Amino acid sequence: MFNALVVEKNDEGKTSASVQQIGEDVLPAGEVTVAVEYSTVNYKDGLCIGPGGGLVRNYPHVPGIDFAGTVETSDDDRYKPGDKVVLTGWRVGEAHWGGYSQKARVKADWLVPLPEGLDTRQAMAVGTAGFTAMLAVMALEDHGIKDGPVLVTGAAGGVGSVATAILANLGHEVAGVTGRPETADYLTSLGATQIVAREELNETTKRPLEGETWGGCVDAVGGEMLARLLGQMKYGASVAAVGLAGGAALPATVIPFLLRGVNLLGIDSVMQPYDNRVRAWARIAQDLPMEKLEAMVQPATLSDLPGLGRDILKGQVKGRVVVDVN
Ligand code: NDP
Repeated sequence: MFNALVVEKNDEGKTSASVQQIGEDVLPAGEVTVAVEYSTVNYKDGLCIGPGGGLVRNYPHVPGIDFAGTVETSDDDRYKPGDKVVLTGWRVGEAHWGGYSQKARVKADWLVPLPEGLDTRQAMAVGTAGFTAMLAVMALEDHGIKDGPVLVTGAAGGVGSVATAILANLGHEVAGVTGRPETADYLTSLGATQIVAREELNETTKRPLEGETWGGCVDAVGGEMLARLLGQMKYGASVAAVGLAGGAALPATVIPFLLRGVNLLGIDSVMQPYDNRVRAWARIAQDLPMEKLEAMVQPATLSDLPGLGRDILKGQVKGRVVVDVN
C-alpha cells in the first residue's frame, strides 16, 4: 500500500480531495511502474484537484500532471529498474492517473530519461511550467530574437519565473510584467532588468500599433494583454503564446502581422514530440542556473495540495511548488 491524493465525486457532483492509501492493483495499465519522488503544482492541477474544469474523465482520480522518479519495473526495453525519469503532458493527471502518488504506472512513450545534471527534485522544480518556458524560448530563438528587452508576462508565476531566469542567463535583457509589485526583488534576482506593472498592459488601446519596444515575448497571460503587446513588438519579432492566465479571448487586429511582420507562435507542451522533449530538457540542464531555480522553490507535501490547488487558481502561487510525495 502507498499514499496518493485521491479526488472523489459525490452523488451531487461535488468533488473532494484527500490523501489515501491505495494498492498497486488499482493502478492503471501501462508498461512502466515508477516510484515517484517529486511532483509539482500547475494551473491544470488546480483544476483537477478541485472541480475538474472538464479535464478529468473518471472518478476516483489521482491528479498531478507531471512527476519525476525512479523506474521500479518495466516491460519496455527502453527503461530498466533504477532509471531516473521525468514525465510531463500526455494528459497524465487529467484523463489518466497522475503524479500525486508514491507510485505511478504509465506508457513508456510518455517518459523522458532525466537529463545529465538534473536530479528528480530539480526536474520538478522545473516541471511542466519550466519545460514549457524552455519550449517558448526555443521557439523564439528558432524565429530570431530581436535586439531590445524580451517581455515575459505573468512573470512571477511558474512559466514566467523560469522564462525570466533562462532568458537572462542567455544574455537577454528581460522585462517582467507582474500584477504583484511585491515580487519585484524576486524577479530582479532571477535576472529581470525591468519590471512592468500589469495595469500598464491591461489597459486596452484603440491604436493597433504602438512604439516598437520588445525584441521577443513569452506570454503566459493571453487575453487583452496579448492583444495589446502584439502592437508593441519590434519589426519581425515573435511572441510565444503559452498561457491564458488573463483570458482566452484575443481581441486584436492583424495589423502587427501585416505591417511589422510580427509572429505569433503557439506553444503546446502536452503533445510535444519526443525528440523536442529531449532537446528541451537538455537545454534546461544547460541554460537554467540551478541557484536561480532553487530561489523559485516552495516545498510541499501531498496533504498541502488541496490548499495549493485553490491558491494557483487565484494566481497566488509564486514561482514553483515542489511536492515531495514521500
Ligand atoms: P501560474 O499561476 O504560476 O502563473 C500565472 C501568472 O499569470 C500569475 O502568477 C500572475 O503573474 C499572472 N496572472 C494571473 N492572473 C492574471 C490576470 N488576470 N491578468 C494578468 N496576469 C495574470 O501558472 P503557470 O505559470 O504554471 O502557467 C501560466 C499559464 O500557462 C496558465 O494559463 C497555464 O494554463 C499555461 N500553461 C500552458 C502550457 C502549454 O502547454 N501551453 C503548459 C503550462 C502552463 P504575476 O503575479 O506576476 O502578475
